[in-house]
Amino acid sequence: MIWAYRRTGKFAFHVLTGALETDARTADVPIEFAGGVDAVVDAIERAQAAGRRVLVGWSFYSPDFALLARELAAVRARTTTGAALHVAGGVHATAEPEATLRAGFDLVAIGEGEHLIRELVATLDRGDDPHGVRGVARLDAHGELQRNGRPERAELDAFPPFGPRHRRFGPIEITRGCVYACRFCQTPYFAGASFRHRSVDNVREWVRYLVGLGFRDLRFLTPTSLSYGASGPEPDLTAVEALLAGVREDIGPDRRLWFGTFPSEVRPEHVTAGALALIARYASNRALILGGQSGSDRVLAHSERGHDAATIERAAALCSEHGFVPHVDFLFGLPGEESADVEATFALMDRLVARGAKVHGHTFMPLPGTPFRRAAAGALGPEVRRRLLALSSSGALYGQWQQQEHTARELSRRGR
Ligand code: SF4
Repeated sequence: MIWAYRRTGKFAFHVLTGALETDARTADVPIEFAGGVDAVVDAIERAQAAGRRVLVGWSFYSPDFALLARELAAVRARTTTGAALHVAGGVHATAEPEATLRAGFDLVAIGEGEHLIRELVATLDRGDDPHGVRGVARLDAHGELQRNGRPERAELDAFPPFGPRHRRFGPIEITRGCVYACRFCQTPYFAGASFRHRSVDNVREWVRYLVGLGFRDLRFLTPTSLSYGASGPEPDLTAVEALLAGVREDIGPDRRLWFGTFPSEVRPEHVTAGALALIARYASNRALILGGQSGSDRVLAHSERGHDAATIERAAALCSEHGFVPHVDFLFGLPGEESADVEATFALMDRLVARGAKVHGHTFMPLPGTPFRRAAAGALGPEVRRRLLALSSSGALYGQWQQQEHTARELSRRGR
């Protein structure tokens, strides 16, 4: 198993590595982490020389699809035909299996990878045909897309949150799937429209493992931090406290616990005095990332965000009162946005910044698999760009919004 390894999305490879490590059929299969074309080619040649069947796993987000397709072509040009099977997985490949296969990948892994990668590797290791594996899509001899359903969804407790035997770590995923259905977001369409949580006992077991290895910073991965333990939109603060108090007990007072900040955020309507008191008591961060997205109620409603602009402002004010610096995510150029909506967003950002908040700016991208996939790319007019640059140079705005505007245009062009 060779992972075409890259910084973006590397934690997905670590999770899949953990899945292979913990199945008796695949635990001894050699795994390589090969970053870049040269390393992948080298790993394929070494595995071939050892007489092994070779599977190369690729995973990428939509903006990187064209780049990775070029890398695949470069690998193929330097290896013998049939030297390796190339499988692509992740949100983009799942949403666009046919385009992914036509770009040159042999197989697409639809949906979540834990069960699928175990089956695929075990099948190849036995010398059997991989096309029968549940969740594997391919092009048949006539160039037609053939799907084979979706693999079973993973119970988080049944898998390690990373690849411990290979010393490949990452944040502990505490929740997968999302009950919200924000129309720009791939998460609910990829991982399901309900929450699946890792149990407190299981999280604590892995936290103690990391502490034993000397880790001093503990981070979680979740689509919405304060939804831990909840089954619907209403937070379950008892469950959040059981998680945070338990982990704090395991890590002691000096190690750092990050909650509601990178790489996971908090929905604004979940911010209450009670929730903030819990975070302040057990977590180490004094900044919180809030999902805001727009200052226009009309655009928020059209995006099915499930909250209005006043809720964002109230959440940010509560954060400041409780000693947290709010970092508010905004998505510029959302579908249906008109000049009055843009003004409302700038007005909200100005009020937030005046009260000490930071703005984390993104540009809307029409992502495959989402209801907004056919929407026009987020476009920032010259005046909007000028105002954003002014916010940026004052230090109030940060983020990848400029690069994303370019990527959004590319995605939009390819989607038509
Ligand atoms: S943006 Fe966040 S809350 Fe909305 S669907 Fe995606 S993960 Fe869920």
